[in-house]
Amino acid sequence: MPAAAVSHDVLAKYEPVIGLEVHVQLLTATKIFCGCANRFGSDPNTNICPVCLGLPGALPVLNAKAVEFATLASLALNCQVRERSIFARKNYFYPDLPKGYQISQFDKPLAEHGWIEIPSADGATKKIGITRLHMEEDAGKSLHEGFADSATRTYLDLNRCGTPLIEIVSEPDIRTPDEAFEYLTRLKEILLYTGVSDCNMEEGSLRCDANVSVRPRGQEKFGTKAEVKNVNSFRFIREALAYEIERQIEVIESGGKVVQETRLYNSDEGRTYSMRSKEQAHDYRYFPEPDLPPLIVSPQLLSETRKRLPELPEARRKRMIAEYELTEKDAHTITASRQFADRFEAAAKTARNPRRVANVLLNEVVGRLKALGTEIEQSPVTMAGIVLAADLLDEGTISSKQLKQLFDVCFEKGEDFEAVYEREKPRQITDSAAIEKMIDEVIAANPRQVEQYRAGKKTVAGFFVGQVMRASKGQANPALLNELVVKKLEG
Ligand SMILES: [Zn+2]
Repeated sequence: MPAAAVSHDVLAKYEPVIGLEVHVQLLTATKIFCGCANRFGSDPNTNICPVCLGLPGALPVLNAKAVEFATLASLALNCQVRERSIFARKNYFYPDLPKGYQISQFDKPLAEHGWIEIPSADGATKKIGITRLHMEEDAGKSLHEGFADSATRTYLDLNRCGTPLIEIVSEPDIRTPDEAFEYLTRLKEILLYTGVSDCNMEEGSLRCDANVSVRPRGQEKFGTKAEVKNVNSFRFIREALAYEIERQIEVIESGGKVVQETRLYNSDEGRTYSMRSKEQAHDYRYFPEPDLPPLIVSPQLLSETRKRLPELPEARRKRMIAEYELTEKDAHTITASRQFADRFEAAAKTARNPRRVANVLLNEVVGRLKALGTEIEQSPVTMAGIVLAADLLDEGTISSKQLKQLFDVCFEKGEDFEAVYEREKPRQITDSAAIEKMIDEVIAANPRQVEQYRAGKKTVAGFFVGQVMRASKGQANPALLNELVVKKLEG
């Protein structure tokens, strides 16, 4: 969605510089500084108390679970955790912020100097730096629509006041909207694996603001940046950035100046609109929060938290690629959620051949689900069914052709593999004499291949197995067939 006709040659003269600020709500039972429930979807103004309403005299008490989650996220993002960090007041007035300030962290955040690895355009990987990860509280919500008198009134729901947040600020290392998309995808995946947030964008558990500027290629100094706020999907962020990059280049090319401002993205129109001039840090008059002591994360707490760090998605993919002989793409499919990867690995362990379980899952289940447009959670075949199928295949009780037919029935009738297998147990030829007769015929018809085999090309055995399997309409017992083919050829 181009802002206007800016030619490719002109676009290519400029380099975009993108930094992302991501707010993530933590999945604690209670709020960050009081005992109110931290829950989405309650009736308005039911999860509130004097502390999160900021009534005079009410004092905050820090939620230990929120610290634990923030520390866990910091470690998962390769950050250095500060032993002593400081809460600060960020002063601004807004109707949904009854205290008149937000408790956040400023010059001494919880964690700094982290990074995330993303795939880069040339097939290698690129490290995107994380400047800082700090803790803060969420504000309430102003409701501008949905009421009979919404045209003249704004309603306030303060349930969200005091929801624990972490803000993750990237270095300005991102150069394209695609890299921004990758960074966000990886970040969300890592946070989901740690379990500190549900990262549900529709409910606002994960929110992203993007800072973007452009500069002539080769120039060191950054251009003036605009901030694009509150875009509610990664796809829209990619679109908003592409629009904003072109808009800024167009402004510069036509002799104008980019102004530092906050802009909103309208996904229906595919363009950004100026909202307000951007505040500077000094506008907020930050000062240390007098009602809270410094936050201490002791070396002991840090090492305990490190032990709770799960195997993270990238490491898990690397291990699974080796262990199950997967392609990069297949590894992504299996590790898309930690729960699914866990279920797969638990099941694979019980199978005769774990790699075979991966094969059956990827070849017989994933493709059929994709064709139906359904998620893996809705598969009629359970993980136990996949293991059974893999075992039957592995021990040669069914052929791969029969396996395919059985899976066809499973998906046609919406039944699990075991039920279909028990009912339609494929007929198998297990009579050696009958199989030997078929082998003899194939051998007689292919003297050249026999010669090749006897000259030492043992892989030709596979050709005979295939021919006999076809002649038997897929019903020859595969294990027996393999054994007899070799016996005949050697004989
Ligand atoms: Zn409260």
